[in-house]
Amino acid sequence: MATLVWDYVQEYDDERDEILAGVDRVFRSGRLIFGESGRGFEREFAAYHGVAHAVGVDNGTNAIKIALQSLGVGPGDEVITVSNTAAPTVVAIDALGAVPVFVDVRAEDYLMDTALVAEAITERTRCLLPVHLYGQCVEMAPLERLAAEHGLVILEDCAQAHGARHHGRIAGGMGDAAAFSFYPTKVLGAYGDGGAMLTGDDAVEQRMRRLRYYGMAERYYVVETPGHNSRLDEVQAEILRGKLRRLDDYIAARRAVAARYAEGLAGTGLELPAVADGNDHVYYLYVVRHPRRDEILAALEAYGISLNVSYRWPVHTMSGFAHLDDRRGSLPVTERLADEIFSLPMYPSLSKDVQDKVIMALREVLQRL
Ligand SMILES: *Cc1c(COP(=O)(O)O)cnc(C)c1O
Repeated sequence: MATLVWDYVQEYDDERDEILAGVDRVFRSGRLIFGESGRGFEREFAAYHGVAHAVGVDNGTNAIKIALQSLGVGPGDEVITVSNTAAPTVVAIDALGAVPVFVDVRAEDYLMDTALVAEAITERTRCLLPVHLYGQCVEMAPLERLAAEHGLVILEDCAQAHGARHHGRIAGGMGDAAAFSFYPTKVLGAYGDGGAMLTGDDAVEQRMRRLRYYGMAERYYVVETPGHNSRLDEVQAEILRGKLRRLDDYIAARRAVAARYAEGLAGTGLELPAVADGNDHVYYLYVVRHPRRDEILAALEAYGISLNVSYRWPVHTMSGFAHLDDRRGSLPVTERLADEIFSLPMYPSLSKDVQDKVIMALREVLQRL
């Protein structure tokens, strides 16, 4: 059985005419960089979130990097985040010469344990960087209290949480700025790379616009602070405009897949995703947990089912971050999870057929354990 962890071809078949018409509009527009598609997407993405400004960039990693820089985070500044995340969260902090400081996650929902943040704050802390992981939001009220008390900025990593809500507030509309990825697998995915930043602050927005464009104000070709080349491509922007109109449908489809897993896997001994208080989960990933994870994954291979682990190697244990102070043993929940979690296939067009085969195979494997 071809069980795919992720697949966009069905979705492309459904949306092909609209996508190709959009690509054609861009190619005929006479403007391939900084045209109407990019501007239109920025307007619509900002409006979707009820935030004043959106600035498109080339990917989510650079969205984090440029957002941090625009918020005034620089070399030597400490940024408090988690190790149970996609490595790019930390790569972006490190690229600025800033110092990632990790707190552990909660055993129930694998999200930043905000009760541990206060003791991680030092004189050099500048920023709190919650990662809204797997599709649901980190508890924001404690972070907002600490930020106000210590004069810190908050950057939300929303790469996995497009459209997620927290006590009614939307992911990306809560911090001083937010960073999104439109990597194809994400809840809002491009047909290639893409990213965006949100902020309600006019000065921060101006810095974001310059830093993504070599450090120049558009039309005034003078570099003030040397920046990057991180523009969002017009073609991707146009495709994203179409997909943004369908974002709520994609989320509804993901929730339906999640509900089917919850029903099919109840009572099997597998720990299913817990939704934290006040959260509307968008299920970027459907992450389950079992102490005998590796045996389960090996047994599923016999059914032709190969699953992913997000994430098998906590960032603080990676050789590339050996220069940081954190070592194996410093984040016990994160490290334990890395040995026990795995992800089930999750995307809006996942067929009931394929999903039921995954459920049946898992039920058999778990029964035989
Ligand atoms: C995908 C992802 C990123 C990076 O996005 P890219 O577009 O691949 O650069 C950053 N943070 C998290 C949590 C992600 O899942």
